[in-house]
This record gives sequence, C-alpha cells and structure tokens, in this order.
Amino acid sequence: MRISYSSLDNYQNCPLKYKFKEIDHIKEPKSKEAVFGSVLHDTMKFIHTPGILSPTMDQAMEHYSNIWNPAVFESPDEERAAFSQGVKIIQDYMKKNNPADFNVANLESRFQIEIKDDKNESHIISGIIDRIDKTEDGWEIIDYKTTKKMPSQEKVDNDLQLSVYLKGFLSRYPKEIENLSKIKVSLYYLKHGVKLSAERTVEQLQKGEQIFLDTIKLIEAEKFEPIVSPLCDWCGFQNRCPMWKHKFKELRKIDTEEVNSKIAEYIELKSAINITKERLGKIQEDIMNYLDQEGVERVFGENGIIARTLRKTYKYDDKKIKELLEPLDKWKDVVKIDGIALKNIMGILPVEVRSEIEKAKVVDKETRSLVVKKK
Ligand code: SF4
Repeated sequence: MRISYSSLDNYQNCPLKYKFKEIDHIKEPKSKEAVFGSVLHDTMKFIHTPGILSPTMDQAMEHYSNIWNPAVFESPDEERAAFSQGVKIIQDYMKKNNPADFNVANLESRFQIEIKDDKNESHIISGIIDRIDKTEDGWEIIDYKTTKKMPSQEKVDNDLQLSVYLKGFLSRYPKEIENLSKIKVSLYYLKHGVKLSAERTVEQLQKGEQIFLDTIKLIEAEKFEPIVSPLCDWCGFQNRCPMWKHKFKELRKIDTEEVNSKIAEYIELKSAINITKERLGKIQEDIMNYLDQEGVERVFGENGIIARTLRKTYKYDDKKIKELLEPLDKWKDVVKIDGIALKNIMGILPVEVRSEIEKAKVVDKETRSLVVKKK
C-alpha cells in the first residue's frame, strides 16, 4: 500500500474522513484554516530560502500579501482578522528567528520510505518535511504548525509524525543513523511562537513503523468508523457524514416536519427530566434537614411514607486483598480494568504503550443511546 503521512494522520483522526478522501476520491473543499496554514507555510519557505541576502521583514510581508487568498473567508471582518493574525505571526517569527542565523539544507523536502509487514509485503510512506537545518553538531528537522492548541512536551517526545519524518530524513542521509542523538526533531507552533523539540532512539523509530503497519492493517480491513471531535469543525465532508448531514437537511430538500417535531419533543422531555432531577435534589435536602430537626427517620404524608436509609459503600486495601486472593487463583476474577481511568491516562502514555493498549481492546457490548446537546 502507498500512503502519505497526512493520509495516515487523517485516518487516525477520523477513518470515515480518510475513506471519503482516499477511497471514494471525493474532493474536499479547502477550509479557510487550511488556506491560512498554506499561506503561512509558503511565507516560511520564502523567509528561509537560501540566498545571498536573507529577506527583510518588509519583503516577507510583501510576499505574504501577494499570496493572500481573501476568497475563502465569509465576511470582510473575518478576512481582516485572519490577515492581521498572519501579519503578527510573521512579525513575531522574524523577531525571534533571524533567517541568516540558520543553515537551511532543505525546504519542503519530499521523502518516501519503504516498510515491510509481517508477511514481508512492502508499504510506501511518503511525506514532505517543511525544513531541514544543518546545525553546529548535527541536524534539525522542523515542521510548522498553525493549530491553536499546543501539545505537551511528553506528546512531542512520542509524536508519530516526527518519527516518520526522521525516517524520511534518514532515507536521504542514511549515514546519519550513527548520530541519531545529534538530530533534533521539532514542531514550531507559529500561533504561539514556540518550538517544541525532541530526539528519537532507534527503538522509537521501529515502534513508529509498527504503528504505521497497524494502521495500514485497519485500512485494509476497511474499518471506517466516523470519530466526532473538534476537528469536525474543519471537515469538508460534514454534509455527507452520518454524524452531521442531518444538519444540512434543508439543502437535501427532505420533508422533515414529523421528525423535527419528534426531535423538539425529545429535547423538551430530556430537559424536563433535568429540571425534575434538580427540584428533587432540593426537596430531598429540605426533607433531610427536617428529619434532623425532628430527630426522626420516617415522615408520613397523605400519599405515602418517606424513610431515610443509610447505604454504605466500601473500598478495600488492594495490596492485602491481592495477597489473600492470588494464592487461591481468584485475584483475576475480581480485578477489572477501569476503562475511564485508562482513557484519562492514555494521553500521557508513550505512543508504543498506547498502541499496544489499543490492540488489546475488544468490543465487549454495544448499546445505542441518544445524547442531547442543547443549542
Ligand atoms: S465530519 Fe467529523 S466525523 Fe464526519 S467525516 Fe468529518 S471528521 Fe469524520
């Protein structure tokens, strides 16, 4: 299989989006964020293109203005705000990074690497590295990011993209594998003006390859479930996606009167349940206070009796229980993985551990429910 890093990234973020793009070959309209990102990438390339003289701030600004694309914005105000944000990003960048201080070896460098799976089948991964610098004692591989959110250093230390890019770099400079510790891999967050860097070991590179192979297996098995996330806001396939397309029903000209009234009633009932729950909580508190005040545990009303009961929940000393149950081969019967706790720590686990955990996951049972998100 041939796959680019960005397609793999697409698959990991939302398999269905990958399918729309790569399998069904549906053209995705470019979002304004994507256009803004490419204008900034192009300007970074202009700033760092090696020449006799490095570009000045004015020249960088002129380049930025020339390639600016106002057509993608919805209103003149939105366009002005985006343009000014770009100006500030470039100004801040150039103040912090004098282009003359860098020894740029390659810009937008394309790579292809070959990896083999357990059946000895070859797969080709391609990508484009934004910038490769020759540093005093080694190299630096840099990828620019225009996202609002910045990851933790821990995430950068395990970032798959940087491992793949380093492999791409090594395919061009194979001897540098001897000096791995002198190659820095960096993500430059332009909106924050912050560069996060890390290094990689040979083991990390191999594990990165394995993640790629695991993802390829999922694609080949045609697993294309949608994943709703904040990234949906930038997805050009919302009007086809089962998680969103109902929002575009007017465009699809479907008679939705009946379903609309059911949706409205369902949301109203759900909200009535919430109001009732809140009211019940308040009355319960008042009755508890009354029971305390009167020194009684039951109260009698016209339509029934309310009694106060005490329910206790216990927790156990894990170590002690383990010592007692393990010799009886019963420990594993009572220990259960807490899925929520596991999900909470996933983000800080090394990428290879996360990948192994994902592989150890199987569907236990499936239930469908309705979740209301009020406007
Ligand atoms: S809208 Fe969201 S869930 Fe649907 S395809 Fe796009 S990214 Fe996936």
